[in-house]
Amino acid sequence: MATNRTFTMIKPDAVENGHIGAILEKITAAGFKIVAMKYTQLSRRDAEEFYAIHSERPFFGELVEFMTRGPIVAAILEKDNAVEDFRALIGATNPEEAAEGTIRKLFATSIGENAVHGSDSDENAAIEGAFHFSGREVF
Ligand code: ADP
Repeated sequence: MATNRTFTMIKPDAVENGHIGAILEKITAAGFKIVAMKYTQLSRRDAEEFYAIHSERPFFGELVEFMTRGPIVAAILEKDNAVEDFRALIGATNPEEAAEGTIRKLFATSIGENAVHGSDSDENAAIEGAFHFSGREVF
C-alpha cells in the first residue's frame, strides 16, 4: 500500500449515535478520498488481533467488548500525508483533550468510546488496511 494512505474505523458508538454520515462528510471535506469502505462487525477474535498491541493494558477487555458490540464502518483513505493529517482531523484519544472541530471533539463520548480510529503510522495503516480489505476491494 502506498504511504499516502491511512486506515479508519467509525466505531460502534458513533454508528449507534447516527454519526456515520456526518463523519464521512468531515473526512471527505478535509480532502480524503475513500478508496475502500465496508459496513461490518468485528468478531471477538478480530478485535483481539486488531488491538493486540494493547493486550496487557487494563482497558483491553473493555476495548474488545466495545469494539464488538455493534457494526462499524471500515475504510481506507487516500491523501498526501494521510496518516498525520487524519490524526490531526480526529484529535486526541481523549475527547476532553481533543482540539475544537476535530471528529473526536464533536462525536466522541469518552476516552474509550471515541468515535473513530486512525492508524498511527504508514506501516500500521498498511497492516490495518490489509486486515479488512483484499486487493480487489481497494480502488
Ligand atoms: P488512539 O486510538 O488515539 O491511537 P490508543 O492507540 O492509545 O489511541 O488506544 C486505542 C484505543 O483504545 C483508543 O482509541 C480507545 O478506544 C481505547 N483506549 C485508549 N485508552 C483508553 C483508556 N484509558 N480507557 C479505555 N479505553 C482506552
